[in-house]
Amino acid sequence: MALTVMKFGGTSVASVERLQKVADKVIRKKEAGDQVIVVVSAMGKTTDQLVSMAGEISDRPSKREMDVLLSTGEQVTIALLSMVLNERGHKAISYTGWQAGIKTEAVHENARIASIDTSLIRPQLNEGSIIIIAGFQGVTETGDITTLGRGGSDTSAVAIAEAFAAKRCEIYTDVTGVFTTDPRFVKKARKLKEISYDEMLEMAYLGAGVLHPRAVEYAKNSHLELVVCSSFTDEEGTVIKEEVSMETSKSVRGLAFEKNVTKVTLLGLPNNVSAVSHVFDTIADKKINIDVIVQNVLDEARTNLSFTVDQELLEETLDVLRGSEKELGYQQLIYESELAKLSIVGSGMASNPGVAAEMFHALASQKIKIKMISTSEIKVSTIIDEAKLIEALDTLHETFHLSEEESVSL
Ligand code: ASP
Ligand code: MG
Repeated sequence: MALTVMKFGGTSVASVERLQKVADKVIRKKEAGDQVIVVVSAMGKTTDQLVSMAGEISDRPSKREMDVLLSTGEQVTIALLSMVLNERGHKAISYTGWQAGIKTEAVHENARIASIDTSLIRPQLNEGSIIIIAGFQGVTETGDITTLGRGGSDTSAVAIAEAFAAKRCEIYTDVTGVFTTDPRFVKKARKLKEISYDEMLEMAYLGAGVLHPRAVEYAKNSHLELVVCSSFTDEEGTVIKEEVSMETSKSVRGLAFEKNVTKVTLLGLPNNVSAVSHVFDTIADKKINIDVIVQNVLDEARTNLSFTVDQELLEETLDVLRGSEKELGYQQLIYESELAKLSIVGSGMASNPGVAAEMFHALASQKIKIKMISTSEIKVSTIIDEAKLIEALDTLHETFHLSEEESVSL
């Protein structure tokens, strides 16, 4: 019998009323003849509320206790959903991560799943019960509760689907699928029928918030078909799968963007082999994540180095760099705020030359200045003024015909 894993996010399970809607979908799936495992998030903003309560006690609460605390959110949802289903005449059983045999590495607040012992719930599944598992959590070898990082229920769902050899994993959320770009910003954004794992990974990392990037990585590694669809309607969602054919697909599948980007530049760094690594070591020591990097060699002796960081981390970054001015040996430190990162993403780019040029032409025609560029095989990212973001998104959406239906599927 085929097994489907259905995952419902926080907004979809925000109230008892919504749990009834979730139950409608689950029951329908079950009645269609599938075995069903449901993975859920904490209700609504529960996790945020728990985080803020801990914040009232300590600036740096124990990570172990944070995991004990946050894992309670999902535990509430599984019990209530199970009650709803049982009340409606369907046998359902809830399991916390540890009861379901989800073992993780011994890292608090951002653990990776190490293994899933399917033998613990397989009998109940085979008996025909609907299995409900708390997302976002697991247990270490020594019995400590762990969580998988914010947004980690997606990853739980995919890992469970893989472990139980599900035919597919359906991620139910408050949007109807994956769009060419964020429809709140671009009116003409269109829902994609399909997207490849690699494209989705780029979109997810670049801030297209729909799916936890690690979930996409897992799905890609295990060739598991993922579907993103709406909890509230019956519209068809977006299928995320392996690429079938490259040549017929469009070169650009979507636009991803991020706001609140700042650019930091060190002018006149010594042009020697270790200066750049020294800068990044200094920043990495403080666990500050940097993104786009551009280096310009000025002459034999000097080089300029620019990189981007999140607006939130700017002050800390400047402090660190100012504190190490002597050791690093730069002449001047400057920065620029209110920038955005805008990227075009598409597997077809790898085999279609000229896509980047087309992007730069389009931006130039709107007099949008590009401040930095970075590329990978399937994406081109530019740093621009945040004030120009919407205009740039509209232009690129138009340039790459993203509102038009795909003529041939992947
Ligand atoms: N409840 C957790 C969070 O809010 C995990 C999840 O929803 O995926 O981050
Ligand atoms: Mg989520």
